[in-house]
Amino acid sequence: MLNSESIRRDFPILSLRREDGKPLVYLDNAATTLKPRQVINAVVRYYERYTANVHRGLYKLAQEATSLYENARETVAKFIKADSSEVVFTKNATEGVNVVAYGLNWNPGDEVITTVMEHHSNLVPWQIICNRFKVRLKFLDITEDGYLNVENLTSLISKRTRLIALNHVSNVLGTINPVEEITKLAHEHEALVLIDAAQSVPHIPIDVRRLGCDFLVFSGHKMLGPTGIGVLYVDRDASDALQPAFGGGEMISRVDLEKAEWNDMPWRFEPGTPNVAGAAGLAAAVEYLEEIGMDNVRRHEIQLTDLALKRLGDLESVVVYGPKKTEDRCGLVAFNVKGVNSHDAALLLDELENIAVRSGLHCAEPLHRRLKAQSSVRASFYIYNTLEEVELLCDTVEKISRLS
Ligand code: PMP
Repeated sequence: MLNSESIRRDFPILSLRREDGKPLVYLDNAATTLKPRQVINAVVRYYERYTANVHRGLYKLAQEATSLYENARETVAKFIKADSSEVVFTKNATEGVNVVAYGLNWNPGDEVITTVMEHHSNLVPWQIICNRFKVRLKFLDITEDGYLNVENLTSLISKRTRLIALNHVSNVLGTINPVEEITKLAHEHEALVLIDAAQSVPHIPIDVRRLGCDFLVFSGHKMLGPTGIGVLYVDRDASDALQPAFGGGEMISRVDLEKAEWNDMPWRFEPGTPNVAGAAGLAAAVEYLEEIGMDNVRRHEIQLTDLALKRLGDLESVVVYGPKKTEDRCGLVAFNVKGVNSHDAALLLDELENIAVRSGLHCAEPLHRRLKAQSSVRASFYIYNTLEEVELLCDTVEKISRLS
């Protein structure tokens, strides 16, 4: 296990106590994670010490701010084994998906393949593109135990497939999808691949070259970073296929009244003043995670998830979604207590033990329909969570199931 005690001391929120003295048991990390002091300080430091716009002024402070921003890009690029020219800062994962959706040149009849286990962020943009450009949307289904039905992909891919857009890890089932295999198949058919890595980059070591994808998106706030900063990775070879979806200052190399020429990668996709403080905070988050080591993060989460799966799986009154094998999933467990609405269960967990979990559809409404679940409760773990917290979650779920 990680040394959670020393890690927990870095997170100011974890020292707070409720009026009854109960500490916060924060198990909503798939929605957003808590922030360590190091990240908060990096954000404050930009405003206190380096405030200036980037890529513009020639004065020293502006150059320091630019270095801060570009160094942050390098730090993030190394973290996912990309070149810094391939790392575009966005506002979040959702924006990254939209930049790709609006930046590809669509022809009527083109096809996009996605899956039934997507977050709305990687579904609704494709629906909009399909309506606007007469593109066809196809769906890869899941098996009964929550895996992608990859065998069916060959029958879905056609000469018209332009893009396969899928998540690396489902934010409900926790399934780690075989994206390497899917990317290989897609490229054999000359289709591009976008990976929604919002739930994988924070939790498992990522090497974009190994994944082989063309585009990959994630959010800073789900990996200890601030809100309002995310990443769109654009593989250098795929960058020609992508036009800037948004125009403005800094994304150009020359502007005439009638036309403009684009700046190099990655600035071509970053119009306007960027979130410099956010980038500095995200770099601090990456450094924090690297200090721990992503292999250790993964090992820690496996232990927590394993315990949650075993204990919740043993309760007859509880239905757990997703693969049974811990190694096939990331650190989150979605479940329902039979006969108890997910919101009621979440409210009780909060009221009884100050446990924060998410309830509802988790922005994955079609998946819940596919699972024949009205909604679900989701507990999601991170580096500061302990086995004791997971035990408390399971004890309280058991208590709730006895109330119903
Ligand atoms: N994809 C997945 C799998 C997610 O879990 C989330 C966040 N819940 C997103 C995309 C969207 O992230 P954001 O809201 O930060 O853009």
